[in-house]
Amino acid sequence: AMGPIEFRELADHFNEMRGKLAQSFTRLQQAEMSRKELVANVSHDLRTPLASIQSFVEALQDGVIEDDYTFQKYLKTISLETGRISHLIDDLFQLSRLDAGSETFQPEPFHLDNLILETLENQYVQLQNNQIEVSVHIPDKMPPVVIVPYQIKRVLINILQNAIRYSPTGSLITLEAENLSGEQVKVTVSDQGEGMIEEDMAAVFERFYRVEKSRNLNYGGSGLGLSIAKSIVEMHGGSIGVESTLGKGSMFWFTLPKYN
Ligand code: ADP
Repeated sequence: AMGPIEFRELADHFNEMRGKLAQSFTRLQQAEMSRKELVANVSHDLRTPLASIQSFVEALQDGVIEDDYTFQKYLKTISLETGRISHLIDDLFQLSRLDAGSETFQPEPFHLDNLILETLENQYVQLQNNQIEVSVHIPDKMPPVVIVPYQIKRVLINILQNAIRYSPTGSLITLEAENLSGEQVKVTVSDQGEGMIEEDMAAVFERFYRVEKSRNLNYGGSGLGLSIAKSIVEMHGGSIGVESTLGKGSMFWFTLPKYN
């Protein structure tokens, strides 16, 4: 016969399963909804630059442009819009691979400081163009983290590019790594940029979400960068967030598991 302890265990087990089932159902529903939204958003985001390219190509074909300056300007716009489309496709591709779980996930022990420095080197031109200085603080004796290096590099790049994009020329970006007391390491990227209001703080990690102002300013982002970062960080068992004050700046942070 079943003792009271075994029965308890069984009941717990059932409850846990029920919870998991409910969770996956909600997730499926969400996935279905966001798939429709995704198609709508992608169509719009592709159509806008394509329409622009088409109109400039037509203008060039008409042969009415005589001065070289305008000619070059049109070519530059075409190239810019093409880059935008290509960027969007790259982001979508990355996101769909993460969604489908087709990204092989074999994390390895890795030192964050190398990765941070490498990322900064990659962003050197952008940083210089915007006269942005970066101050890096990594304590000695940081434990290695367990990561897929190129994926965490993508996270860093996405956050850093935003920090550059949404900050004024000549401002400072601070990059910090912190050895938390538990199982995790924390990385923060702080900027002196435009910041955001509370409502936007949770929403910026959603797909295609862009703060109204940056949409208007037409920075040409896809609105996918932070949702990609979130997927990657969560896949590693970490979490990601932002603290921000409108007009003062933002601090994006994420955590990663330590290697012991
Ligand atoms: P995007 O391609 O538009 O930058 P992201 O997913 O990377 O897409 O970011 C979503 C939105 O979050 C941005 O459009 C911008 O409004 C806001 N955002 C992101 N990073 C910052 C930042 N450092 N400062 C202010 N706003 C930011």
